[in-house]
Amino acid sequence: MTTATLDKDALKQKYAEERDKRLRADGNDQYQRLEGKFEDLAADPYTPWQERDPVKDHVTFAFIGGGFSGLVVGARLKQAGVDSVRIIEKGGDFGGTWYWNRYPGAQCDTAAMIYLPLLEETGHMPSQKYVYAPEIRGHCGNIGKQFDLYDDALFHTEVTDLEWQEDSARWLIKTSRGDAFTAKYVGMGTGPLHVAKLPGIDGVETFTGKSFHTSRWDYAYTGGTPDGEPMDKLKDKRVAIIGTGATAVQCVPHLAKAAKELLVFQRTPSSVDVRDNQAIDPHWFESIATPGWQQRWFDNFVDNQSQGFPEEDYVMDGWTELSRRIREKVRQMPAEKWTPEGMLQAFEDADFEKMEEIRRRCNDVVDDQDTAEKLKAWYRQLCKRPCFHDEYLQAFNEPGARLIHTDGQGVEKITETGLVANGEHYEVDCIVYASGFEVGSDYTARAGFDLSGRDGVKLSEAWEDGMQTLHGLNVHGFPNAFIVQPSQAANLISNVPHNIVDHANTISAIVSHCEREGLQTVEPDAAAQKAWVDLVLSGQGMLIGNTECTPGYYNNEGAGLTDKNRHQLGHPGGARAFFQHIAAWRDKGTYDGLTFT
Ligand code: NDP
Repeated sequence: MTTATLDKDALKQKYAEERDKRLRADGNDQYQRLEGKFEDLAADPYTPWQERDPVKDHVTFAFIGGGFSGLVVGARLKQAGVDSVRIIEKGGDFGGTWYWNRYPGAQCDTAAMIYLPLLEETGHMPSQKYVYAPEIRGHCGNIGKQFDLYDDALFHTEVTDLEWQEDSARWLIKTSRGDAFTAKYVGMGTGPLHVAKLPGIDGVETFTGKSFHTSRWDYAYTGGTPDGEPMDKLKDKRVAIIGTGATAVQCVPHLAKAAKELLVFQRTPSSVDVRDNQAIDPHWFESIATPGWQQRWFDNFVDNQSQGFPEEDYVMDGWTELSRRIREKVRQMPAEKWTPEGMLQAFEDADFEKMEEIRRRCNDVVDDQDTAEKLKAWYRQLCKRPCFHDEYLQAFNEPGARLIHTDGQGVEKITETGLVANGEHYEVDCIVYASGFEVGSDYTARAGFDLSGRDGVKLSEAWEDGMQTLHGLNVHGFPNAFIVQPSQAANLISNVPHNIVDHANTISAIVSHCEREGLQTVEPDAAAQKAWVDLVLSGQGMLIGNTECTPGYYNNEGAGLTDKNRHQLGHPGGARAFFQHIAAWRDKGTYDGLTFT
């Protein structure tokens, strides 16, 4: 199918109609946290709680969050000779999102060769092109062991307070376990998707059957294991799952096979493209894994998503495919159309074609054509998180699986015994909430703590009008503090670990410089920070924040970017431009824009 044979105006009209059905006045407020009356749903089902005495000592570097960010920063610091590194983590072990998300079928959609950090350092060869959660969690544990990060780690511990002590030039860190210790430097990598949310549907608390969020999977109830053992305890159960995002796409096939009956409540269909997973051949891996290989793969993936014309595509996946298609369109265009508008047109045409293929896949794979029609996504591919799976659409061919399409309206009500949608009541034994994680909220609200910097100024105050950083990493007024997150930096959402490894390299360079030179503090100067934020704000966010898209966390539930969350864009030149800028900045060794004492 080519755009020449597509009725683009009709498609645009359909996209707009489908979006309009889903717009809601309550936006992000439609969700609720696993707090208060839902607190039990937040409990850690995976690791027993262990009593310990409060910690009251001093470390060189304290890092909040034991996911990829904490592990990679910890590893880089250890490599640089900083021995005293303490990671504080609310889960019972390292892994971050991969600690919590153990639902059946959990897998990473980004190719393991670029997704798993520190592959060269650990010597780990991913087993498959796209690896499953247990392998990722195992990799996290191995990094922790290899770089001696376990000894000083505090698990099942939440930071409640971080305060800069001007006299001693140290941070005072307090936690939920009564700890009160100091650190010369602090790092924060609390992750973008760590606060699970429930839909704010009337009656959630009245349901008397079993219910849980996908990030707290209750294998004691379902049977089975995260390693893929079948969930044998569901064979006489009627199960409902709410949500059809990236998580549901991965666990629905397993539920459909295990449960007596599975009802999938859909508000907005996901686009589900081909997965085509393959085992990694050790001979091939050996041939490419020469020194510096992972950085070359990182760079190649980014180059393939930028507007350059790289000769090779190492990763060859769904993320780079769209870019390949756009480039092909551009190649076919006459030179006079190589304008910004021409590029946007090529992007739009490639997208229409791709989405038509994805929609047609529903008809090809799903036996019941009425269900197939309802599984079709009517928006541009990057409006919502693209999904890739070879068993999700197929799951609707299982005899017990049924799609409850709510035509954009969602589940209306939850009762003691089930759910109401489209005016009909469905009795179930179990409700699985695949309703995602908080995204649009303020950083400090999501982190669960607020930093008090110089003169007692809170980070929430410093960012009242939006995030202010140099390179997305350091904040004026908050000495010796590093925030590992992608905004105001590369913002490479298709491969979050690349952002993390790069920030870890910068942190390690800055801290090494301070330690080598006997410096006490490091902080961006106000002018350099302002210039950086101005640069970020001069750019566009591509489809992020686009109100033409169907509502979701990519566009602030349809509300688009506010002045405040516009500050969370990336470098205006894209990820590649940021990575090039920061590599040159590090190599120069003068750390322009930072003030040291
Ligand atoms: P999402 O936020 O993507 O999806 C939540 C789902 O719940 C949506 O389908 C939403 O519908 C639905 N929903 C919310 N309220 C209601 C309601 N009242 N009635 C019916 N449905 C409702 O969460 P996920 O956990 O699926 O994914 C979160 C993110 O985690 C992904 O976007 C991705 O970034 C990441 N992830 C990454 C993976 C990887 O491979 N690396 C794998 C899995 C997840 P609607 O769309 O209409 O809002």
